[in-house]
Amino acid sequence: MRSFSENPATIAVLDLQGGVEEHLDHLYRVGVEARAVKRVSEFESLAGLIIPGGESTCLARLLDIFHLKEAIVREFQRGLKLWGTCAGAILLARENRGDRAHLGLIDVSIARNAFGAQTESFICQARVPKVATETLPLTFIRAPKITSVGAGVDVLLTIDDYIAAAEDERVLVTVFHPELTPSLAFHRYFAKKCGLVAGHDQGDERLETAWTPTSWMQAANSP
Ligand code: GLN
Repeated sequence: MRSFSENPATIAVLDLQGGVEEHLDHLYRVGVEARAVKRVSEFESLAGLIIPGGESTCLARLLDIFHLKEAIVREFQRGLKLWGTCAGAILLARENRGDRAHLGLIDVSIARNAFGAQTESFICQARVPKVATETLPLTFIRAPKITSVGAGVDVLLTIDDYIAAAEDERVLVTVFHPELTPSLAFHRYFAKKCGLVAGHDQGDERLETAWTPTSWMQAANSP
């Protein structure tokens, strides 16, 4: 079995469907090694894995078809840290209300499409003190709501009557999309959670101000 002395340094993004390039672009801006993964053989020796937003029913089907569930759970048991954004959070939740659960690796209950139709998508701002001192921009796209968390899960952000971000020691879930905003705060936070020191740890403002919603199209490999 792989031992931790290998100190894995890469954060991967699950590359089946959804916002893959946007997460990779943010990870490059933060200054950590990043790559896309989609084959069982690519999941070993990673520090962290991001399951992006997209469509959870589609992602769940692809996970089954390509036998990736087993690979993710196996690496999670070996210490892999996980972050799910939006559909990714749905896949990681222990309870997916009104539907079957998928990976079930964090003790939260989540309700899909809880704001209604795609047209109910919105942006807002909030303070998430554990993640950053500054106010963060948040993008919700046909988002779920986390409705409750179990013991051992910390709530990072509550808005109105729902939980928007939560974590336990090994898994982070956000129902919004930090990769679709200029802020690198959540990606820095996840890098730290993975035991990595982000290369641009002090917050290189140029990397944030140079971001546009289409940055990822030009900069597949470097900021
Ligand atoms: N509505 C999608 C789902 O249920 C999630 C949307 C997203 O990831 N932005 O999977």
